[in-house]
Amino acid sequence: SANTNPGTSMSIRLRFAPSPTGFLHVGGARTALYNWLYARKTGGKFILRIEDTDAERSSADMVTAILDGLRWLGLDWDEGPDKGGEYGPYFQSERRELYQTEAERLLADDRAYPCFCNEAELEKHRDESAYNGHCGRLAPGERQAFLEEGRPHALRFRAPKEGETLLYDQIRGKMEFQNELFEDFVIIKSDGLPSYNFAVVVDDHAMEISHVVRGDDHISNTPRHLMLYEALGYRIPKFAHLPMILGEDKSRLSKRHGATSLGDFAGQGILPEGMMNYLALLGWSLDGKTEFFSAKKLVDAFSLKRVGSNPSVFDPEKLAWLSGEHFKRLDPKAKVEGCYEHLLSSGLELPPLEKVRERLARIVKLFGNRLKSYADALDLGASHFFAEFPDYDSEAVEEHLSSDSEARLLALAGSWENLGEFSSSELEASLRSLAESMGLGAADLIHPLRVALTGRRRSPDLFGLCEILGQEIVIARLRKQAWRK
Ligand code: GLU
Repeated sequence: SANTNPGTSMSIRLRFAPSPTGFLHVGGARTALYNWLYARKTGGKFILRIEDTDAERSSADMVTAILDGLRWLGLDWDEGPDKGGEYGPYFQSERRELYQTEAERLLADDRAYPCFCNEAELEKHRDESAYNGHCGRLAPGERQAFLEEGRPHALRFRAPKEGETLLYDQIRGKMEFQNELFEDFVIIKSDGLPSYNFAVVVDDHAMEISHVVRGDDHISNTPRHLMLYEALGYRIPKFAHLPMILGEDKSRLSKRHGATSLGDFAGQGILPEGMMNYLALLGWSLDGKTEFFSAKKLVDAFSLKRVGSNPSVFDPEKLAWLSGEHFKRLDPKAKVEGCYEHLLSSGLELPPLEKVRERLARIVKLFGNRLKSYADALDLGASHFFAEFPDYDSEAVEEHLSSDSEARLLALAGSWENLGEFSSSELEASLRSLAESMGLGAADLIHPLRVALTGRRRSPDLFGLCEILGQEIVIARLRKQAWRK
């Protein structure tokens, strides 16, 4: 079946294994996406595992933020403890017994040993070089006596000291690591929780992960993992280490470069479809030129073979552009609802959606192609449609609302009060004839009118805007002159 790895009987199973110590950022989201795409492409499974064994740095809020980020991006996972109709992720903190059992197997084979060193002693060993395997050389009797005394201890893996460990990476090719460079590393910490290196191996085996796709910041850990696979008698999965993502200055992407978490981008009005499309291109390409992909097209087209080994540079402008390309293709209803949500979340007080849906639909239509993201709704001035008066930009007022122009606006209000039909074509015709009768150019009325109605120097189609505002509000804004404060 499609679910089987060609040439073997192993099912295709991938996982995303975030540590809940921060938000879901660009790098993590790309890792999650590539795993998800590969699973969806092959008919395999995508598993979510929260690596929360660093109790001090992990937090429940970050778990929530990561899950929200994945859901926003549209990445669903296939397994996990039943959480009332939905799969919860796996949590490593709930799987201690398994790590303990596997550690005991290593202890029984003398591939692991208790280490009684406290921090100060470790410091001392470190000064000498790396951890030197001190407790690994304790006489069996001594070790036994310390255990019986109840001395606190961690468990360390007895790493091989000779030879090399080979990694066949799907992206980087073959890599060799000298074993002598690896110290005996901790597998169970003195608090009883597993180390990352141990838990990741035990879980990837227990969850039958066939492909480990993760950031190449883990590549230096992978030899340790391979040593554990060997010692535990586990079958080795395929590894694919994704190249780094850089900021524009070519240093590793970080907060210094601006927005990096998915929540930030959602807040900027970036569409999840656009984010997914952009993340896919951060390291993968179909043919070096196709840029626009729907989720479905990505699933069809994705392969690990087309993931490059060079770092990619994160380009927020390209992200915004791609998001705009997806935005263009949204149906009007989705645009209206998305704008509504965005306006609400940016703090605007609005009546319930059904009360304003029609007006918002007219506004969205008025903005036309200038609306490239939900966030543009605010930039283009959506908020004044829902207020009694706009916020007046003082420079715009200064420039266009002199006492002369105020008098002209009152004259315009007078003529518009008596207009039979408050439609954009009637409004425009009546403004032009009023201007003419006053010996003015149309612009002499249009500029002050725009500032009086919107508070700003620029707006989309002014007469269309008047029509949406409606006669009552337009007249009130012209008569009350609320810009004079
Ligand atoms: N928990 C690790 C991290 O968040 C990922 C481990 C892995 O994918 O092997 O960086």
